[in-house]
Amino acid sequence: MLAAGLPMSTLTPNRAGTLLLVPPSPVRSVELDGRACEVVAVQGLELVRQPRITRSAGSAARRGQRMAGRRAAWRVSTIRAVASCGRYARQGVVEVHRLPGEDGGSARAALTGLMTCSSVWACPVCAAHIMQARAEDITTGAGRHRESAGALGMLTLTLRHKRTDTLAQLLGGLLDSWRRVINGEPWKRACAKFGVVGFVRSTEITYGAANGWHPHLHVLMVYGQPISDEQREEFEFWIYERWAGFVEKYGLGIPTRKRGALLQAIDADGADYGFKLQERTLGWEMARGDLKRGRADRYLPFELLWAAGNGEVAAVELWHEYEQATQGRRASHWSKGLRELWRLGDERADEEITADDHTTGATLVGLVEEEDWAAVIAHGADGYLLELIETARDLDHAAELLDGLLHDARSNQPDFPTDTRGRHTRNQMCRSGVSRPGYLKGTG
Ligand SMILES: [Zn+2]
Repeated sequence: MLAAGLPMSTLTPNRAGTLLLVPPSPVRSVELDGRACEVVAVQGLELVRQPRITRSAGSAARRGQRMAGRRAAWRVSTIRAVASCGRYARQGVVEVHRLPGEDGGSARAALTGLMTCSSVWACPVCAAHIMQARAEDITTGAGRHRESAGALGMLTLTLRHKRTDTLAQLLGGLLDSWRRVINGEPWKRACAKFGVVGFVRSTEITYGAANGWHPHLHVLMVYGQPISDEQREEFEFWIYERWAGFVEKYGLGIPTRKRGALLQAIDADGADYGFKLQERTLGWEMARGDLKRGRADRYLPFELLWAAGNGEVAAVELWHEYEQATQGRRASHWSKGLRELWRLGDERADEEITADDHTTGATLVGLVEEEDWAAVIAHGADGYLLELIETARDLDHAAELLDGLLHDARSNQPDFPTDTRGRHTRNQMCRSGVSRPGYLKGTG
């Protein structure tokens, strides 16, 4: 459905001559699962923007959204592992487990035996697992640090960017320049002078319709002693000059003094002087970029994936650029010795984190043969399967519901909500979320 009356001037040709996402102008608002959702006009199409998912939203709603994102990745990803994640059984069979709820909470379902991609960049499901683990480390460590006499700071490093810059170019310049900042004697001397005992670096990427890709760094600075405002400002200026110099040498524009490097103090409770934490804890702010919501004119990568999965040609192109530019890069990095200082043990690899299927204490509900699993996937009912297992009265009931679902999937007569063979059409998207898949039902 074309948004009636949308002026053609909002369609902007990009460097490849096709159409780019334009700044979405809110058209109207609809209600989806009890949450207000914006309907925005993008390229002359109306798209329902993903409902805002926050930590306070039900975990099933958040999981449903991640799984929907992963289904989109199956369709559009050029990375084989990502396109297979959660879609195929590793060895012919998928195991369905049920875990009792903690503290009287509702039961949880888990699947094992599926292929897993462990991509922190390109897979919404794996990214959530990995970032959750990373966030917990930071929260634990920073909590311990607060008990000491030390202090914390948040450094944000940005680049100047424009729509014609490629992400590979910007990301390369960002990470290369940062590596140079923290190498060599000058950095060691600065650390000694300002009392820096370590840092955690994480990378965040957004896309803006006006200025294109915006990769930037958040660096949690860990001081062994309190740092005064004067010292902090002096350190910030020192970092800025070094940062700007290396960025320029790399061949990118000199970052502005105002935005290039910003070093803020974070007080003992994680509250701050002017630094607005979007999430309640520092760890979440640092690591859970997947939970944040892009501002009106900015897209988070998984928002692009969502649009790409719904057939937005421009978003598909951007998504491909994004997944290729990020593949194989580390999303976060701990300075040497900080984990020891915070008694955190060795950092687990992304693959180790996603290999932990959290099934300790779980009971096996049933096994799903490969062909049956393919039928479930074809109906886009993987998330629904988990919901069924979780809402069952008991284990027997769960097994019964699983049997029923598999029977329906096999006989190709699903009486369960589907997302139409895992694919929204444009028209369905335009029906203001009315065709929302079942796995988003009854949550929030
Ligand atoms: Zn994955």
